[in-house]
Amino acid sequence: MEKTKALLERYKKVMVPNYAPMEFLPVSGQGTWMTDVEGRRVLDMAGGIAVLGLGHCPGEVVAALKEQSEKLWHVSNYFANLPQIELAELLCQLTGFEKVFFANSGSEANEAALKLARRYAFDKLGPEKNQILSFHKSFHGRTLFTVTAGGQESYRKGFGPLPPQMVYGHYNDCKDLEKLVGDQTCAIIMEPIMAEGGVYPATAEFAQTARALCDKFGALLIFDEVQSGVGRTGSLYCYQQLGVEPDVLTSAKALGSGFPVSAMMTRDRFAQTLQPGTHGCTFGGNPLACATAKATLELISKPELLANVRDRGAQLVAGLHKLNDRYQLFGQVRGLGLLVGAELNATYQGKAKAFVNKALAQGLLLLVAGPDVLRFAPSLAISQAEVALGLELLEKGIIETLKEL
Ligand SMILES: *Cc1c(COP(=O)(O)O)cnc(C)c1O
Repeated sequence: MEKTKALLERYKKVMVPNYAPMEFLPVSGQGTWMTDVEGRRVLDMAGGIAVLGLGHCPGEVVAALKEQSEKLWHVSNYFANLPQIELAELLCQLTGFEKVFFANSGSEANEAALKLARRYAFDKLGPEKNQILSFHKSFHGRTLFTVTAGGQESYRKGFGPLPPQMVYGHYNDCKDLEKLVGDQTCAIIMEPIMAEGGVYPATAEFAQTARALCDKFGALLIFDEVQSGVGRTGSLYCYQQLGVEPDVLTSAKALGSGFPVSAMMTRDRFAQTLQPGTHGCTFGGNPLACATAKATLELISKPELLANVRDRGAQLVAGLHKLNDRYQLFGQVRGLGLLVGAELNATYQGKAKAFVNKALAQGLLLLVAGPDVLRFAPSLAISQAEVALGLELLEKGIIETLKEL
């Protein structure tokens, strides 16, 4: 661990201390496996926080990136470019949306969605229609607007004054939603499966109520699929399983297989709000990013890959239930496809991080979603044998954790 310690010292000296990196310093990755500076190999079921939909360094995406890197990197949005046109066409074809705006991160895609909703309401319905409804525990990014839209107070603390006219409802509570939406509402922003907040899938009834209220009051329904999108839940986008169509859809994390790229998709009639000069993004639609994202989407939208997400997700959930039968750890196992959360029961409140650290010592990389939930977001191409191995390593980690608690 000497190399790791020395490198983390150097990191600490020069990096803003907003992150607390783990004692595992990756140097390479292939598929579902990652190797650190000490030569340790781990099974990666964290997937760079749901970013590595195809695992580390997927060959066809690497090839697309290499090819584009020798042609054209950047042109600015004074020009259109071929990869951008092709990616936008593919997204529209796969989702049924009509217009796309590109940016680099989930926050920026959500920022664009929220600005679109405010501006659309301002232009069509007057300046008083400006209230945005989101949900407690939700996460929409770290810019001032998106962190205010998010429902985690600690992330907003001390950064005020914050953008006004934001209200928060309780997720999956239809009665609460009905009370909060009205003439002043210009948008509802929600994750169809609340990821960072603890992996809570929206009920179909809740999503349908949000849709009906938006229709009734002329508000835009924004689905933040930054984490749930690009195959993660077993359909290309999660809303495609919910039977509810949003007006605006945002996508990021897995869209570029780890290359920074994001998209906001919407209908033509809303898109017309963003005329030249209203919004922009220097790197948005960059040829390198778009070539990478196009190669990613072509692979992830394949029915066999999406079927693997559903099958491996079911295998993982069944395995977690089995572990629970043996060790009585979890109050609930939730999720959809390969976004799975196992919530620790009252006995192990606040101990998620301890389980994750012990799993890592056994060679398994996991995530938390808050202090009480173990989160799994592995490569969507993970094999049956790898999921089985992950469960074995997790069990060893559990045994070690229980010795110390
Ligand atoms: C990660 C995430 C974001 C923020 O994305 P960044 O790329 O970090 O800006 C927004 N919404 C959801 C649901 C996320 O999971």
